[in-house]
Formats: sequence, structure tokens, C-alpha cells
Amino acid sequence: MRKQKQKPKEKGKKKIIKTIVNIITTIILLICLYFAYQFYQKNNFNDFIRSESNLYTSEFSRDNKEKYSNKRSYKITSPDYNDAMFFKTIKVEKNKPYKVTCMVKTNNVESKEQISGIGAQISIQDSTERSVAISGTQDWQKIELIFNSKDRDTVDIGFRLGGYLGQVKGEAWFSDFTIEQGVSEQSTEWNFACFILKQTDVVINEQNIKLDVTPTDITDIRDTMERFKNSVPELSEGKMTAKYDIYEIETPLTKLSYDKQYGYYASPEDVENQIKDYLKNSNYDHIFIVLRLGNEEHKEDIEINDWIGLGSMDYYGVGFSNIRLPNDSRSYIYKYNPRINTFPEEVFLHEFLHSLERTSKEYGYEVPDLHDYEKYGYENQRLVGQKIWYKDYMNKNINTETGKIGLPNEVYELKPAKESNFETSYKIEEFKEPENLIEEINQIFEQMCKNVKLIFNNEEIENNY
Ligand SMILES: [Zn+2]
Repeated sequence: MRKQKQKPKEKGKKKIIKTIVNIITTIILLICLYFAYQFYQKNNFNDFIRSESNLYTSEFSRDNKEKYSNKRSYKITSPDYNDAMFFKTIKVEKNKPYKVTCMVKTNNVESKEQISGIGAQISIQDSTERSVAISGTQDWQKIELIFNSKDRDTVDIGFRLGGYLGQVKGEAWFSDFTIEQGVSEQSTEWNFACFILKQTDVVINEQNIKLDVTPTDITDIRDTMERFKNSVPELSEGKMTAKYDIYEIETPLTKLSYDKQYGYYASPEDVENQIKDYLKNSNYDHIFIVLRLGNEEHKEDIEINDWIGLGSMDYYGVGFSNIRLPNDSRSYIYKYNPRINTFPEEVFLHEFLHSLERTSKEYGYEVPDLHDYEKYGYENQRLVGQKIWYKDYMNKNINTETGKIGLPNEVYELKPAKESNFETSYKIEEFKEPENLIEEINQIFEQMCKNVKLIFNNEEIENNY
């Protein structure tokens, strides 16, 4: 009897204990889930792949305190010098202009090297294509990268603290990523910007060298640009035309870059401060930088290894060349004279053709090297230099055993991407982030599936580049 009476009591007790255990388990589970979710939110980089040049140096996190919109920002912290980025492979259509934007904020970003171009930026991995680079401590601002997909089907778009030119330390927050596709311009009229840097004031081997461009130099360059404008349609047999603006820059050139092969020259980063205001919202297709790196007094103080023009560079995707004024004031290199030089625009044309040569190659065309004129039987002639070679080069009229070669006709339409390409553009959803919990859970499962697939395929995500 007693036993029978006690049974329901014990049962009740057990039930209560079981319920308590269940509640505790549920609470623990919920706490675990909460922390797991917090961890996930702090570390979730969506589809982005993290990448560093010095592995395990930078910290990648999602920040809930320092953010631009209601979503957590993406933060890179580099306590030591590093080049760190998170990137996503984006599918693109060939030969189309694209614009990528984001909001960025920086704290104490400082670079090892004293050059612009390093800092918080948007860039395409394994290329020189990048946005402006933000350094120091700066509040949220919008930055953009405009590029042409050229011959590519995919590009790795990275949000980066560092750069291909060097490393930085500090903190950067990124947010609100967008990408849009624009419309290419069909015109074959090329718009040139010619900057004359009137003063060079540099320290080379502890020696301060000050050089001035003379009024005669400026007259010569103005005449030569006008000749260049007229020569381009003539030599290309109407395949392209040119227009131009000349800017005389008073702010001295104080920085130069050095290259073992060429010696000193002005890289896009060296002159960015002098030219950037003139290029804002402008639609230039090519940039000439005219500068003086020597004169009769300073003949060999700035090492130049035999160049008068230097090309194949780009300023945010736009072709960029140096045109060096001769050290000798009696030189006729940029002066028309019927008995000495009837083709003074040669250096300008040569450097511009280097850009077309590079563009053709980037679009997958096979073109002869611009310097190979002798290989195809051309020579440097008195009065006109390599004029005939350039004409045949521009018109794909160089004879070889296997047919005619030269620049493809299409290259005259393959201009750099620029702001005006985006007047009618459409947004691409590539950087879309989950908007709510359901989308987040969906994404977690998608990522898990991807990871399982990766394990089965025995693939590894490469962290280093
Ligand atoms: Zn050359």
C-alpha cells in the first residue's frame, strides 16, 4: 500500500526534475546559439575571401559599433605593416565599363613608404587597377573604382588595407558595397590632357635640384601638341581623331620614382597631387606629363637611362606617359624645322602608341612590339624618325610572311572606362548581403554546402598571394 501511494509522488518529482533539466538544457542551448550567432555575426565575411601578404598579421572582423549603415561594417586591423584584403570573384562581361563603390573610414593608417597609392582602397587583385587610397584618420567617405573588364570573364574585387605598391598599418572599416555596369562609348575621338610641370624641385643623393621649364619650352610643347592633334588622323588614315587641353602646373614636382632600367621618372603617384583636380569629372583618355629632369647646369645629377619619353603606365586606368624636355636648350626634339626635324610630335605619338600596344595585348590581340621597327625592315630616318613605321603600325600594314600585322582596327574604340560611361548604368547584385535572419540562415546553409563541396573536391582556399 505504502509503495503504491509513493509511486505517483516519485513520478511527479522525476517529472519536475526532467522539466527543470529540459529548461536548463534549452537555456544553455539558447545561450550557446546566441554566442554562436554573435560569433558568426562578428566573423561572417559573407562570400568574401580573406587574403594577406604576411599571413596571420591582420585581424578581419565585423564591427557593430563603428558602422555606416544599420549593418555591421567590415573591419581590417593591421597592428603591423601588411597588405590585407577581402575579395570576391565577380563575373563580368568582356569589354564593359564597371564602377565599384564603398564607404570607408580609417584610423591611424600609415604606410612604410612615402608614396601615395597605399592605404584603404578598392582594388582588383593582381592588377594595378585601384581607387584612391585613404590614409591617416578620416571619417566615412565614398570611394570608387572604375575599370574596363577588357578580355576578362571574372575579376577579383578587393577591399584592401595596403596596396600593390606597399604595406600599411592601422584600422579601416568598409561598408555599403555596390557595383554597376556602364555603357562603352563608341567614339574614336580621343581626349588628351597634357600637363606641363613648370618646376622640378627634388632632392637626389642629398643634392637639392631645382629646374625650370622655360617659356620657349612651353611654346614648343603647345606647337607640338597641335601638330600631334593633326598627325593622328593623318597617320591612322582617319581611324581616330584627337582633341586636347594643356595645363601649366605651378606646384613643383617634388617626388620622383626610380627604376633600375630607366632611372628617375614621374609615376602617376608622384604627380597625383598636381593633376588630380583637373581630372575630376573630366573625360580624358590619355595623359601626358611634360617635365624637365635636367638642364645645362644639372646634366647628369638626375640619373636618366636613355629615355626621352616613357609610357605604358596608367593613372586609374587611363594611359599615362612622361615626356621629358631635353637637357640641352639647343635641342630640336620638340621644334619643327624643315632642315632638322619635321616630325617633332614623334615622342608624343610614340608614347601614346605604347598605350594602344598595351591595351591591344590586354584585350587579347597579338601585336608586334612598338620597338621592333628594325626587325620588320624599317629604319629611323632623317627629319621624320620612325614616321613610316608608326603609320604602318597604326594601320595594321606591316608586311610579314604570314600576312599584315599591326594594331587592330578595334583598338581605337577601346578607350579607358570613365565617369561618363555611367550616365545610364545598371546595378549588379553581386555584393548583396543578407537582409534578415531567414536570409542569414539560408546563407549559413549555402556556405556549409559550399565548404562540404570544397572538402570533397579536396580544394583549398589559398590565403596567400
Ligand atoms: Zn618606347
